[in-house]
Amino acid sequence: MNAFFDSYVSSCTGLKEFVENAQKALERQFMREKEEDFKTRQTCRGIKMYTALEQHCASIYTKTMFRKFQEQLVEATTYFVEKDRDRSLEEDEYTYYKCYRQLLDPEKRTMYLVTFNKLALSGSCKCRMYEYLGIPCRHIIAVLTKRCVSEIPNAFLRRRWTNDANRVDGMLPYHLTGEETSSHDLTPTERFNNMTLLTMTFCHSSMASKER
Ligand SMILES: [Zn+2]
Repeated sequence: MNAFFDSYVSSCTGLKEFVENAQKALERQFMREKEEDFKTRQTCRGIKMYTALEQHCASIYTKTMFRKFQEQLVEATTYFVEKDRDRSLEEDEYTYYKCYRQLLDPEKRTMYLVTFNKLALSGSCKCRMYEYLGIPCRHIIAVLTKRCVSEIPNAFLRRRWTNDANRVDGMLPYHLTGEETSSHDLTPTERFNNMTLLTMTFCHSSMASKER
């Protein structure tokens, strides 16, 4: 059995005691992680651009992912964003942007096409970086900046790269977060917490049916 259970489970632990002890242990773990989250947010993140978007990302991404995001943010300033007027209709919720560097020789330009849904604040870029790495590319960031978006929209935020990845919302009483999260988006701690909660839910249900 996992070491997590060892401190409060023995061969003579009753079901009720098991559920109560497991809940207390999870509460302690939850508080410890909240404290770590707070410390992480307080740590100087080496802000470079002093924009609202950067400040927001500094407060939500893990340290490593913030560095990766910041690289893209700095690069985004070197891109020119132009609305593709032929494809973007005012009544359409999608706007199409051409994103490129202003080079002396226009022939050498690489054009990146960004499709942006202005209602859902979602979209995609031809380079597919978000789909591969889970952080928005410089082209999408350039579009967000042009549109004066000051916080990274949820559509461009993969939860596994945030400070809250280890947190289990709605942990007490025994139910899982209602958020739709695919299993590969969960961190090992989160997966373990979810499995523990599922076990506890099962134990609680079986205890309740026996007591009735
Ligand atoms: Zn891109």
